[in-house]
Amino acid sequence: MTDKVKYDPDNIFAKMIRGDMSCVKVYEDDTILAFMDIFPQSEGHTLVIPKKAKATMLFDIDTDHLKDLIEGVQKVARAVDKALKPDGVRIAQFNGAESGQTVFHIHFHIIPIYAGQPLGRHAGGAPADVSRLTETASRIAGAF
Ligand code: AMP
Repeated sequence: MTDKVKYDPDNIFAKMIRGDMSCVKVYEDDTILAFMDIFPQSEGHTLVIPKKAKATMLFDIDTDHLKDLIEGVQKVARAVDKALKPDGVRIAQFNGAESGQTVFHIHFHIIPIYAGQPLGRHAGGAPADVSRLTETASRIAGAF
């Protein structure tokens, strides 16, 4: 599958890493960047991306970068859980357009689940209010 998708260095997540595109940042270190999903499926929906890997999916990321990435996902997910106290946390990762992937720079979704609240649509609908996202991001950032 991965041989069908060439890594595009101008994808929107690569632009965020370079600072050429804005995002509502939650956390950043040498290896990962975490930011709020602009079309959140629930309150606190956060994305985690590797900063150094030029990979589109799980299949083409090298294992050293993958280890850093999944450690970052755990770290950010713990902060999301501590800050927002959801009833559950879904971790998702899509591979290929047919699976639902819309941005071809590998990433993990951290989606808080609140009992009785249905999830919003994946990657669609109206974008969230940035001031609200910023407020949520600062609550998460305060929980590391
Ligand atoms: P996927 O569909 O798994 O590739 O996930 C890509 C995610 O990026 C979707 O959940 C989108 O809502 C999200 N997204 C798209 N554009 C932006 C943006 N400018 N800032 C933050 N999240 C975005």
